[in-house]
Parts: sequence; C-alpha cells; structure tokens
Amino acid sequence: EIVYLDGAFLPADQAKVSVFDRGFLFGDSVYEVIPFYQGVGFRLEEHLARLAHSLDALQIPHSDNLDEALNKLVAQNGGGNVSVYVQITRGNAGKRSHAVTADITPTVFACCQPIAPIYETGPEVIEGARVIVTDDLRWQRCDIKANGLLANILAMRQAHEAGAAEALLQKEGWINEGSSSNVFIVEQGHVITPPLHKGILSGTTRALVLELAQQHGVQVTESNISYERLIGADEVWITSSTRGVLPVTAVDEHPIAGGQKGPLWLQMFKLFTRYQQGLMTG
Ligand code: PLP
Repeated sequence: EIVYLDGAFLPADQAKVSVFDRGFLFGDSVYEVIPFYQGVGFRLEEHLARLAHSLDALQIPHSDNLDEALNKLVAQNGGGNVSVYVQITRGNAGKRSHAVTADITPTVFACCQPIAPIYETGPEVIEGARVIVTDDLRWQRCDIKANGLLANILAMRQAHEAGAAEALLQKEGWINEGSSSNVFIVEQGHVITPPLHKGILSGTTRALVLELAQQHGVQVTESNISYERLIGADEVWITSSTRGVLPVTAVDEHPIAGGQKGPLWLQMFKLFTRYQQGLMTG
C-alpha cells in the first residue's frame, strides 16, 4: 500500500508523522473521505471545496495541487474503486503549545482503501437500516470536517450496541444529521432535509440528492425535523459518500414505512446510481 505524505508517495510503513504534530496533540486537523470509481474521483471538486472551507475556518493554509496528488495516489494503488482519506493538520510545531506559531507548515496525509461501488449494487440487495437517536454532544462548528470525532464515536458505539447502523444526533429538539451521514425524510411524496447551518456538515451526497431531486421534479424542502416528525415520516434515508442513499426502516423501536424500503427511496437510489454510471461511461 502506497500512501501520500507531504509531497512524497511511499509505502505505508515508511510514512512517519512527528509526535509534536498538532493533529496528534490537539486534533488540530481536518479531513475528507472521497470515493474514486475506476480511478476517477466522484464529486472530487465538491469534496475539495468543502476541504477548503474547513481549512479556511481554521486558518490552515491550503496545499497546492492536492487533486493531482490524490489522482496520482489512486493510480499508484492500482486505480480501481477506492475510498481516499485525506487529512491535513496544522503541522508540527516542534513542541506542545496551544498557541499557533505563524511559520508552521501543514502536514498533508492521504491513503486509500478498496470499496465496492454503490452503482454496482442492485436496489434489491440494499438492506434497510436501523438507526437510533441520541444526543448530539458535538461542538458548535460541525460545518468544519474536523478530526475531533469523540462525540461521533460515542454515538456510533451506542448505535452498534443497539444493533443499529447509525446514530442520528438530536440537539435542542431537532434531528441534525447522523454521526457520519446526513438525514432525509419523506412526507406525502415530499423530500425534506434539515437546512445547512454550523451544526451540521454540508454533505456532498446531500447536495447531489437535492440536485437530482430538483432535476427530476421531486419536491424537496429544507426544514427542521423533530423526533415526532422523524418517526411519523413515510420514509427516512441517510446519505454519505461511502453509503450513498440508504433507506432507514426503523428509528429506535419505531418501524418506518412498515419496515420496508420506500418507493421514493427506490426512485432516488436509481437516479443516484444512474448518475454515477453516467460519469463512468462518459
Ligand atoms: N455528516 C457527517 C457528520 C459526516 O461525517 C459525513 C461524512 O462522513 C456526512 C454528513 C456525509 O457527507 P458526504 O455525503 O460528503 O460523505
């Protein structure tokens, strides 16, 4: 396995980061997870734009030609279907000090791991997911894709203990998003997702689902979702780069859509996978 570190492509076991790196000491870093299908980045521009947003919010300098580096990394690993993880830390300060020194150079790391492309999976194979709802314990800048993921990990652990695939996070009466996904509901043929604010991540899959819905005459509204509205919905979906558009068939002990995958999910899944296939075949 070849990884990318600060301009170099090298075997994973030779990639070394300092113990004084602020990513390690403070979680002073941001990341992205980007699917590549047949060696080509899916919504790469959107991911890099969100990375730029995260970096700007923390005043970490951007790296030049990151897209080139990621494409090269994927090619060096065989160019197939992989998920690329990119992490940029503020850098190695040479000592532990909260204060940021101006001359610090960011550490840029990327690696990839094989994934199964969503568009090669038929909708009949997709299983409806069970999710739980738990308190959103995260900080107030979840629009930044930051590496401090303790609250997400606790929530996901709680989900797994309950035999669920995801934890939806609730704060001040609103269901914000999942621990690593965005959330959608369907009410009488109408698709609803919470509006973007600093409490949620601007999901690239969320944006694509909104785009596809608008293009194909599916009504969509950005609106806050309460617990009651969630469990009373005709359908619930979660979206992310790695999971695509996933149907939820139970929230806590409440079945959704009678425990079945809903018709609008099926329509959106087809639009989504056709969009992916379209990119692959040009
Ligand atoms: N929300 C959170 C908290 C996430 O960590 C993620 C991604 O893993 C998402 C939403 C979905 O974002 P995307 O669709 O860009 O993968």
